[in-house]
Amino acid sequence: METNHTLYIYNTLSRRKEPFKPLHAPHVGMYVCGPTVYGDPHLGHARPAITFDILFRYLKLLGYKVRYVRNITDVGHLEHDADEGEDKIAKKARLEQLEPMEVAQFYINRYHKAMEALNVLPPSIEPHASGHIIEQIKLVKEILDNGFAYESQGSVYFDVNKYNEHHHYGKLSGRNLQDVLNTTRELDGQNEKRNPADFALWKCAQPEHIMRWPSPWSDGFPGWHCECTAMGRKYLGNHFDIHGGGMDLVFPHHECEIAQSVASQGDDMVHYWMHNNMITINGQKMGKSLGNFITLEQFFTGNHDKLSQAYTPMTIRFFILQAHYRSTVDFSNEALQAAEKGLSRLMDAVKALDRLKPTATSTINVQDIADKCYEAMDDDLNTPIVIATLFDAAKQINTIAAGNGSISDKDLEDLKALFHTFCFDILGLTQEASNNAGREEAFSKAVDLLLGERQKAKTNKDWATCDRIRNELAALGFEIKDGKDGCTWKLNK
Ligand code: ZN
Repeated sequence: METNHTLYIYNTLSRRKEPFKPLHAPHVGMYVCGPTVYGDPHLGHARPAITFDILFRYLKLLGYKVRYVRNITDVGHLEHDADEGEDKIAKKARLEQLEPMEVAQFYINRYHKAMEALNVLPPSIEPHASGHIIEQIKLVKEILDNGFAYESQGSVYFDVNKYNEHHHYGKLSGRNLQDVLNTTRELDGQNEKRNPADFALWKCAQPEHIMRWPSPWSDGFPGWHCECTAMGRKYLGNHFDIHGGGMDLVFPHHECEIAQSVASQGDDMVHYWMHNNMITINGQKMGKSLGNFITLEQFFTGNHDKLSQAYTPMTIRFFILQAHYRSTVDFSNEALQAAEKGLSRLMDAVKALDRLKPTATSTINVQDIADKCYEAMDDDLNTPIVIATLFDAAKQINTIAAGNGSISDKDLEDLKALFHTFCFDILGLTQEASNNAGREEAFSKAVDLLLGERQKAKTNKDWATCDRIRNELAALGFEIKDGKDGCTWKLNK
């Protein structure tokens, strides 16, 4: 394998691709915003998990020692820009009479199960927000001490105006404070704030709020943005390499994280901000009100009105990787079926490689294929180009298998290693397709066995048995053709 790589990654903050230079090579610190656990894992969870799984795998392959931190948001909070309202875990716990942590654990388990099915590697550390209240309180104190926050009726708010006098609030999302104010909705609790753009660092809990912790200001809970700043710093230090998440987190979540970092320690913690683009379903945003909200389990079982069949976890993974992580991905049955075929074509090529017989010369340029694959990965993780290159190679493999080309011993070994590295180690695909192939093979053998029995009956002039096997197979959709060398069959379904 080549070792001279310059990985370029697109930094959301600088808005350009930058060569990746870790602060403390060979160590790399990487933080990705993990799931909020008040619902079943869905497609929206799959994309960031798979995107950063590819980065995690590739960095390790390049020889880096990666500490990958992906948090669990289990202290409630509303999903988007609201600091207010009843905690979702608490609400479900109240309605179903469960301990709030029981609700969180239930969904954490389901999330882990789905990630394992998608062959997403577990992170190095998976800290829970609820286990880091002390660190979050410390962060709030620092920001207060530095004069960038104020207390109001038991809550603590970040003073965006004050911050913006010294720093640029909005530098990650490319906004200025006026844009922020223009788009800020009136929310509950606004009367406590000096400025509508101010965000909560600590919220005083209402009496009905179950999830609450003591603090110097009130019994309450930390603002959503605090957990990632506090836990990123705790496990990766004051300055670390990569912070990732979905594009929907750029504002306000990551913008607020930057402000908290600068307000508490004087500078940015993160060197490279990376964001994956969003997912649509038949061209529409996924949403409960649109009737197209599909959980991962529903994809795996096919149990949803919008799905015409079940899709394996590998089909979902492969489909997501066929798009660049900064492009949108539109899910439709047609697109997923195409991905399913593509994946099995690729896995067939892996199997065909094992059957190729080497010769003295090669008609295939393995180094060229390797260069193209690595160049694509080094170019901001361009997995669609990697996949296209592997498809090209698969075509050449088929040509050689058909006797219209050749491959030398060394090239064959290199090509096998290359396919293994890219398909399994980097793209994280698994031989799931070959398990299906195994079943298909057993199925074919069973049909051949029956037709063998029919042939025996024919030889014995037992026409009744002969016809019965034929007719019953025909009723199941098999088309049987008798030829002079025995019979052939295909399934017309
Ligand atoms: Zn976060």
